[in-house]
Amino acid sequence: MSSVDFDLVIVGGGPAGLTAGMYAARSRLNTLLIEKIVPGGQIMVTDWIENYPGFPDGLSGSDLVEKMVAQAEKFDLKIESHEVLSLDLSQDVKKVKLAGRDISAHSVIITSGASPRKLGVPGEAQFSGKGVSFCATCDAPFFRDKVVVAVGGGDTAVQESLYLTKFAKKVYLIHRRDQLRATKILQERAIANDKIEILWDSVLTSIDGMFHVEKVTVKNVKTDEVKDLAADGCFIWVGINPNTEFLGDSLKCDESGFILVNQSMETSVPGVFAAGDVRSTPLRQIATAVGDSAIAAFSAEHYIEGLVK
Ligand code: NAP
Repeated sequence: MSSVDFDLVIVGGGPAGLTAGMYAARSRLNTLLIEKIVPGGQIMVTDWIENYPGFPDGLSGSDLVEKMVAQAEKFDLKIESHEVLSLDLSQDVKKVKLAGRDISAHSVIITSGASPRKLGVPGEAQFSGKGVSFCATCDAPFFRDKVVVAVGGGDTAVQESLYLTKFAKKVYLIHRRDQLRATKILQERAIANDKIEILWDSVLTSIDGMFHVEKVTVKNVKTDEVKDLAADGCFIWVGINPNTEFLGDSLKCDESGFILVNQSMETSVPGVFAAGDVRSTPLRQIATAVGDSAIAAFSAEHYIEGLVK
């Protein structure tokens, strides 16, 4: 086994990857965690986390990441920044292709997470960074005392709209149905918030302006009524897509492209595991991501032990 670079390579450094890394490092597997830029993933752009057990007063996403990195590094997890270009999973020894370098490993855990889905309406790409945003933590302060629209009805749209009200004077929340998908406590807060006006049964059809966002067009899907809303910003939170471009068609995925795994978090390729938001799952929380990852690391350890028997 000595010619193989690592026992385990973990692709992605959000809560899932950091947890898998901590478990693997504690098991004394020779492990490398690869993260594209800096560890953290989507929770780096989460303003406040109040449903992660052990923190009754809540904490910011960046604080939680800092603690997770410190805890993983305490057990000597090696973390490097690279972009994974592709994986070759066709042999027992897996190959991880980076720019200018290939890494080999007995086992791989994929924790590459997910990214915000685009709406695909006219103006979305044109005004991206000029009033169109997918991240309230990054951009909300630019909209102090301004009017913004937010699109979506899930946890992200509702939680981030609540955050936007700390800055904006008005937030129109545009949702395509007459019921929000978000968890009930977030719904209650949004409905009770005077700055949020929910436009039910409505879809955003275009985003317009001269140099930056000045107005959006909204259509009521029940009445077909179309109206323009003056707005300085447009935040889009209509779900997530898995970060799996580097996988090609090497693993079995569900119809939305999320990786299918069994109870051991093992994918369709033996020795390759997936955990967190990138896997097909009915619930995506930090708590479920870290739970998945503990199982994935445990399973990878057993898989690697089996190779030397
Ligand atoms: P999500 O739960 O998939 O919700 C996406 C929302 O966008 C839904 O309300 C959906 O409408 C709407 N939508 C989808 N496509 C649309 C389109 N083309 N036009 C208009 N609206 C569209 O996604 P998410 O809110 O990003 O959350 C992703 C995962 O992270 C979820 O599992 C969520 O629970 C989790 N999360 C949890 C927390 C937390 O625990 N505090 C915070 C953030 C995210 P429909 O409802 O009609 O389908």
